[in-house]
Amino acid sequence: MDFLLVKWSSDHQSDDFLLVTLLTEEIPTVEKRKYLAYKIFKNWKCSFCKQCDETFDHMWTCESCASELDNIIQETKEFFEGACNSLLINADKDPIIDDKLVNKMTFWDRTYSEMKITFIDLIKGIISCELSAYTSLIFENQNLQEKFLVLLRNFIFEKVRVFGLIDV
Ligand SMILES: [Zn+2]
Repeated sequence: MDFLLVKWSSDHQSDDFLLVTLLTEEIPTVEKRKYLAYKIFKNWKCSFCKQCDETFDHMWTCESCASELDNIIQETKEFFEGACNSLLINADKDPIIDDKLVNKMTFWDRTYSEMKITFIDLIKGIISCELSAYTSLIFENQNLQEKFLVLLRNFIFEKVRVFGLIDV
């Protein structure tokens, strides 16, 4: 799998903590709690569908959360377009991003895949080569590109936090 990890700088300690948490998949899922206290938690299932074991990837792919996650993806696409264009305008460049271009990007799937980068990887803070290449072409400026990627990361984390799956 092709991806690179961007080391984010952040003024907020809790954001750093959240990033580390996501990257190491250390969210206290039921599976993790089961491991820690097997006798108490062995019968716990995902709190949304009540059927599957609540592993890290299941939390994001659970069909009972599908519409919420689809909303987050839609809002992230709109944020992507708006934030790109306002950064471009502020830098005296043309606002060239539209829905068509955003929808061409292939990392908006919410399915879990070992073969390709999906939105689940974006939630973990992984920047795919595709996202890196697109933003490099859009901004033609590394500072602007990094600024945008941090904004995008913060936006997604905030949405995920509001979604209520991460207790940070
Ligand atoms: Zn579930």
